[in-house]
Amino acid sequence: GKGLAVFTSGGDSQGMNAAVRSVVRMGIYLGCKVYFIREGYQGMVDGGDNIEEANWSSVSSIIHKGGTIIGSARCMDFIKREGRLKAACNLVTRGITNLVVIGGDGSLTGANLFRQEWSSLLDELLENNRITKDQREKYKYLHIAGMVGSIDNDFCGTDMTIGTDSALHRIIEAIDAIVSTAYSHQRTFIMEVMGRHCGYLAVVTALSSEADFVFIPEAPPSVDWKDKLCDNYLALVAALASEADQVFIPEDPVPNNWVEKLCKRLQQERRSGQRLNIIIVAEGAIDREGKPITAELVKKVVVENLKQDTRITVLGHVQRGGSPSAFDRILGCRMGAEAVMALMEATPETEACVVTLDGNQAVRLPLMDCVHRTKAVAKAMADKNWDLAVQLRGRS
Ligand code: ADP
Repeated sequence: GKGLAVFTSGGDSQGMNAAVRSVVRMGIYLGCKVYFIREGYQGMVDGGDNIEEANWSSVSSIIHKGGTIIGSARCMDFIKREGRLKAACNLVTRGITNLVVIGGDGSLTGANLFRQEWSSLLDELLENNRITKDQREKYKYLHIAGMVGSIDNDFCGTDMTIGTDSALHRIIEAIDAIVSTAYSHQRTFIMEVMGRHCGYLAVVTALSSEADFVFIPEAPPSVDWKDKLCDNYLALVAALASEADQVFIPEDPVPNNWVEKLCKRLQQERRSGQRLNIIIVAEGAIDREGKPITAELVKKVVVENLKQDTRITVLGHVQRGGSPSAFDRILGCRMGAEAVMALMEATPETEACVVTLDGNQAVRLPLMDCVHRTKAVAKAMADKNWDLAVQLRGRS
């Protein structure tokens, strides 16, 4: 059978195990010899026990576990050609020419580069007598299928990345717990959630927790505090209900001081009998000069202006932890099966693909198109062109 290997790379997320399980079982079902590569690219470069044949039962009882049982790592060696040469040698000597990579845009970029170089890597290995002429001929094509594991939902081309839904469950559980205590004390709660370049978790959290305010990287208020921030919930709901790929807040040009705006809103809510206020801050929230709007800064504003009892909760890695939601388990299963199908159907001309979710369908898209779009979003954000970032991120 064909040699197929699966590995997880970059940051971990819930649902990766479901994807690994699905790849292994679908691969075996279709007659492949399936391998795990442990610790991401590092295991591919180091070889040895890191590359291990998987069987049907080696992926039993993992679907409910968070993180990734085969380990993930960042790997400097793979950035260099010498590392990729070692990796290629380890794959060829095991007859592996099909790779399923589960990771973020960095991991997918690395996989694509590896595929482009494959032929020249094999030539070099042959020259150095590290592989045989037969092996050079037999394993001359490398096929790649990717899946995106990330809790931030920060990848272009997919409605959801594997792990986002579970992270939302974690955040909502935490907010519900906090709300019950805040209610007793008439407090203001500021919750920082993950999302360095993508406000998806913050926006969905704000909507589902009746938050009073949300700060996200895509809609920064002006430095002179003149712009109105995204407290326009109707716009958010509309974005969510529409077919938006990822939620964004249309920039609202009404000039307004965000500090005033925030304070006025919190005061109004208290006057109308609300006993607590919730403010959600995305990890990457910034102002228009790119300066961070931190939970600490927001707290200072609330305490100085309103003298409200204000507490901060930074959820951190809790969001990545715990068991995957049903949605992420099914998402991982479906994407894993589709990735294996893509590899089995690949011809020498087939480009590397990434399996994404479009509507309720697992589909294959050209890997590099999605990576380029994702990188273009990051660049637009860095250039402070938020409108462009939002436009690029939307469904194409
Ligand atoms: P993520 O996949 O979550 O975006 P990273 O950007 O850290 O995480 O990438 C994970 C790993 O992928 C890196 O440690 C490196 O081994 C590999 N990688 C990333 N970018 C490249 C690249 N341009 N060339 C080769 N390998 C890369």
